[in-house]
This record gives sequence, C-alpha cells and structure tokens, in this order.
Amino acid sequence: MKSNNPETSITKIPVGISECLLGSAVRYNGGHKHSKLCTKELSGYFDFVPTCPEVSIGLGVPREPIRLVNIDGETRVRGSDDPSIDVTDALKEHAHEYQQKNQQIAGFIFTQNSPSCGLNPVKVYHKNGNPLGKDQGAFAKAIVKHAPYLPTEEAGRLNDPLLRETFVTAVYTYHDWLENVANTDKKRALVEFHARNKYRLMSHSIQGYKNLGNLVANLKDKRFEELKSEYLLEFMATIKSPTSKGLHCNTLEHVQGYLKKRITAREKAQLHDSIEHYRKGYVPLVVPITLLNHYTKIHFSPNAYIRNQTYLQPHPLELGLHNGI
Ligand code: SF4
Repeated sequence: MKSNNPETSITKIPVGISECLLGSAVRYNGGHKHSKLCTKELSGYFDFVPTCPEVSIGLGVPREPIRLVNIDGETRVRGSDDPSIDVTDALKEHAHEYQQKNQQIAGFIFTQNSPSCGLNPVKVYHKNGNPLGKDQGAFAKAIVKHAPYLPTEEAGRLNDPLLRETFVTAVYTYHDWLENVANTDKKRALVEFHARNKYRLMSHSIQGYKNLGNLVANLKDKRFEELKSEYLLEFMATIKSPTSKGLHCNTLEHVQGYLKKRITAREKAQLHDSIEHYRKGYVPLVVPITLLNHYTKIHFSPNAYIRNQTYLQPHPLELGLHNGI
C-alpha cells in the first residue's frame, strides 16, 4: 500500500482550478484573478489541472459579460446585455467532460463571484434586471452535483488559516482514498483507511466518527461498492466540516492516552501543559502536535497504529498549516 505520509511523498497531488487564478488572462474583460497563495504556496504540492469553463465552451476573450438569471424558477446563465445568449447547458456539459477526463483530481479551487465558477452563492437577477436571490455558478454547481465528496473551496476563502488547513487536509485524505481504496475490491483497504483516519475524524465530529465506525464494523451487511460510496460520502462530509479547539483538545488527549504508560510523569505534565496552552490560545496547534509526534516516534515502531494516524501528519510540515490555527 502506498504511504499517505506527506513526509515520504514526493508526488504532487492533481487538483482542479479555475484558470484565471493561475494568472491567465481569460476573464471576460481580458483580465485575471491571480491567486498568489495558489501559484506560490500550493503549487509546490498540488499539480493544478486548470480550466476556464467559459473559454472552453467557445466564448472568446474579451467577451460579453454573463450573469445568473431566474427564468421560471430555474437559474440560467445568460448574457448580461444580450439575453438571447444562454450558456447554462454548455457549462454543465463542460463540467461533466472535465470530470470524466480528470477523475484523478483530489480537489477543486474555484474563483468566487463568478456566474460559472462561484462555489458560494452568486447574485441571481430577475429577467427585468432586478436582483433576485443567489445561487452557485453553473460550472461549480455541476461539479459539486457530480462529485459531492470532492474537496472544494474558493481561492479567497483559502486565505483563512482554518479553512485552508481544512481544505488541504481534505485534499490529502481524498487523494489517499483514490490511491488506496477507490479502485480495489479488498475490504481490508477500507478498514485500514478508516483506522489511519480515526483521530482525524474525531477532530471533526464525534458523531461522524461513530457513524463511520459502525459502517466499517458491518462490512458484511452490504455490497462492498455500495458501502464504499456510502462511506465516502459521509467520510468527506465529516472531514470537510469545520473543527474547533474543543474537538482538537479532545483528540489530542486521546492520542496522549496511548503514551501514558511509556512516558515519564514529567513528560506527561509537559504534554498536558501544551494541550492546555493550545486550548487557551497561548500557542498554535503545531505545539502539542509536534510533542505528540516526537513521543510517538520515540516509543512506537513506524508501523504502529498510532504512528500511522493521519491526524498527526495530515499534510507537509513545510506548508506550516498547523502554525496558524
Ligand atoms: S471565473 Fe471561471 S469562467 Fe471566469 S475567467 Fe475565471 S476560470 Fe474563466
């Protein structure tokens, strides 16, 4: 089985991206939406698979602006100045083709406020031009509909350290799934995946962690492919949900429990203090995580259950994602 340990992984992970975020001048006005976070930081770890849906369906640069319009209760993508232009179906079709061609992508980063790429709600207009609620961009909506488990985020929101850590963790975890579980009929692969993500799940939702544990415990009750789909949907929904200091502290204490018979009273007190300091906001998550990694590496062999927990090493250290949360 290929390791999910980012320390030993040199392969960049394929991730979809709205092309204007890479600095390509593909916007309707000939501009771009360059995201330095994507091109400078994440590009060292992600192998971006770009698409500009509007250019891909044949719209030129520059082009007539388009917007979301409510037509008889349905959101359509129409020309802002020329309502006879309707590219809704073409954008949906492009999303389908993109996904068929790029099934290896482990996430997608979208541009915000776009009638095509907006992942979070974008303004919808009435036929007469008045604002009328909000909806997702047509391309983004189709991507999410086809693959609700795919980690997705908007570039602007990735500037928030917590959202960035959550997204990058989800990408690494889904990549692990694609590499080790998605294409196998071996039940053991799913059991091992679940085992190494136990504390990751716990840090997001105790209920999610319990539900998924029950699914894996009853492997014999369902067809494996059916169970895998059910598991993946709930798993990704769980790890895409926001975590909290309280959930992290609970998880850190559970990991600490593994060490109680192996470390000295003084070391135990140090660990306890680091978790409490994190809880009070004096130090970031990297402090207790580093200490736990240190002691688990000293006291357990590389193949030990606790050493393989993705919670302790969810993404490359160099990204510094535990420093800001
Ligand atoms: S937001 Fe999407 S459709 Fe618009 S320019 Fe960027 S990649 Fe193209």
